[in-house]
Amino acid sequence: MESIDIIIPCKDEEENIEHIYSEIMKLEPEVKKVGDVNLNIIFIDDGSKDNTSKCIKKLSEQYKNVSYVIFSKNFGKESAIYAGLKKSIGDYAVIMDCDMQDPPIFIVDMYKFMKEGFEAVGTKRKNRVGEPIIRSFFSNSFYNIFNMLSKTQIPNGMRDFCMMSVKFKNAILSNMEKNRFFKGLFCNVGFKVKWIEFENVNRYKGNTKWSFKNLLFYSIEGLLSFSNMPILVSSIVGIICCIISFITMLFVVIRAIIYGDRVIGWPSMVSIMLFLQGLQFLFIGVIGIYISKNYIELKNRPLYFVEEES
Ligand code: UDP
Ligand code: MG
Repeated sequence: MESIDIIIPCKDEEENIEHIYSEIMKLEPEVKKVGDVNLNIIFIDDGSKDNTSKCIKKLSEQYKNVSYVIFSKNFGKESAIYAGLKKSIGDYAVIMDCDMQDPPIFIVDMYKFMKEGFEAVGTKRKNRVGEPIIRSFFSNSFYNIFNMLSKTQIPNGMRDFCMMSVKFKNAILSNMEKNRFFKGLFCNVGFKVKWIEFENVNRYKGNTKWSFKNLLFYSIEGLLSFSNMPILVSSIVGIICCIISFITMLFVVIRAIIYGDRVIGWPSMVSIMLFLQGLQFLFIGVIGIYISKNYIELKNRPLYFVEEES
């Protein structure tokens, strides 16, 4: 008999735990029509401040297909996904949000595709109906910039919701980096991947756990871990500035030889100097960010600490 491990990262989701469990289990007969398989649920409590861990423990006492990892504090969804994948020992692993925005019904289709020989099934949203316009704008811009700057291409609207084989899961786990960006890692693996699309669904209960600031930093981190383009762009702009300043220098020298050196153009000189110095600081900053990323990787700190595990 096969098994599917459904990994669910949770942060302050006390209202959603039981609901998602029952919704998933309602599907078990459907999934069993596709193959002889058991569903196991792995909840990862990412430092919740409400009763999430209590709800998870209660479920795990009631049902033997529920297990959990409780983090010592909030380490972020990426760390929770990693912890879940490491804990999973089943034939297939699913990553899924706790708030019903990843409709469990797709697990049936995903499993069908896996049986057809795909190594992974990824999902993306058809639209962003119900999402604040400003958030949609920034999300769309993020995907466009990411795909322009990185060799790894992420479909616009991609969700972390996916199913993968052991081979695919191990490929993802073999990326040892600390600055983890699951969508990028998923799209970078290769193998045979099937994509399915679905309409945007609103949260069942509670609020999003991502503030605008969190999302912005998350996007920048994701981009930096999959592209060296910002450094390359800095160098190219630097070279262009050198060429322009060399031509201007020639012009100034020749003009001084022909017409004599009259002190004119002081304001333009100051503005050019200020502009170039601004660029220099900006690009030193870009390089600094990459160096700080190296520093974090070098320290090799654990991605999370576990308070309790079943
Ligand atoms: N989540 C988490 N750690 C965090 C933030 C979120 O484990 O620091 C979980 C959260 O409980 C949910 C999933 O990640 O199951 C997606 O979060 P959310 O629904 O808030 O994000 P959104 O759907 O708004 O992008
Ligand atoms: Mg959500």
